[in-house]
Amino acid sequence: MTELKSLLPEELAALLQAWAQPAFRADQLFRWLQQGVTRWDEMTNLPKSLRERLAAECKLTAPTVERKQVSRLDGTVKYLWRLWDGNCIETVLMHYQHGNTVCVSSQVGCNMGCVFCASTLAGRVRNLTAGEILDQVIFTQKDSGEKISNIVLMGIGEPLDNWDNVYRFLQLVNHPAGLHIGMRHISLSTCGLIKQIDKLAALELQLTLSVSLHAPDDETRSKLMPVNRAVGVEVLMDTCRRYFAATGRRISYEYAMIDGVNDSDWQADRLASLLKGQGGHVNLIPLNHVTESPLLPSRRVRQFQQHLEQRGVTVTVRRRLGSDIDASCGQLRRKQMEADGRKGE
Ligand code: SAH
Repeated sequence: MTELKSLLPEELAALLQAWAQPAFRADQLFRWLQQGVTRWDEMTNLPKSLRERLAAECKLTAPTVERKQVSRLDGTVKYLWRLWDGNCIETVLMHYQHGNTVCVSSQVGCNMGCVFCASTLAGRVRNLTAGEILDQVIFTQKDSGEKISNIVLMGIGEPLDNWDNVYRFLQLVNHPAGLHIGMRHISLSTCGLIKQIDKLAALELQLTLSVSLHAPDDETRSKLMPVNRAVGVEVLMDTCRRYFAATGRRISYEYAMIDGVNDSDWQADRLASLLKGQGGHVNLIPLNHVTESPLLPSRRVRQFQQHLEQRGVTVTVRRRLGSDIDASCGQLRRKQMEADGRKGE
């Protein structure tokens, strides 16, 4: 079955043309899809015969809200969506001065195995389709009644491990006929897949690339992030420099501060020297404690920040939005998996 929301407007037009439909039907259909209709018969301006054929041959994805938590501290909303096949994913809606931002998932689970991350504990179940990534934006907008202006691909999953669907999603969400969110309003976060970063660089997109670095030395980084074992920090930084040279876009480095693991002064020194000459920016994230992990949040965030700043690095410390609602990704899905497991017993 063709999943309609993953099709670009021109592909939808080709499909309907092959069905001998007039061209304007594709525009109508695309508009309905972007509005997040959940049933074919909501598409009231399409002839009944066309709706029947669509229902017979195509899939209309429409995630349902399994749980929704609203932070009392800052209004951040966390959605746990149930997908058509029973899997759950998370999306977070954050309110910033520069607009409403959604953090979307790109996979059901994750294969990267970072030891501090809840999303990867049970591995990857499957990739999300482009339409399912887009649905998170469409249905968050529909449910909240708030217009989304920024997107971060920082939810569950490794976006560059699902490159074809993620790239298709970027084209869809950026499309003038669709939500038309500009590339400069989109960030993509990766644990550092070298080949895919080069592929992304070649496209010269104007999105912001975030690289989850978390340690400046191979010993620590390989312990925290298995992806580092194959290539190492040096090769990753070379790749990042190439990315900057090709796109002119400064990379944002994510650094989750972990007590006694990556928060010492010598690591701040090493980090500062890695970033020399590429004008990168470091985003320090106070570690979110994951129940299954022994790692604890660092108590040296301010000292680490000052140490970096004294060495000329631009640093921000991420505000912890939604800290009362498990807003860091993967944790809500895990709770639901346990609950679903108990139901199945
Ligand atoms: N796979 C991608 C995007 C998803 S994770 C990546 O690795 O970048 C989004 C960010 O949250 C990453 O920087 C990730 O390392 C970080 N993260 C994961 N678990 C965390 C935790 N428990 N505390 C703080 N940051 C965490």
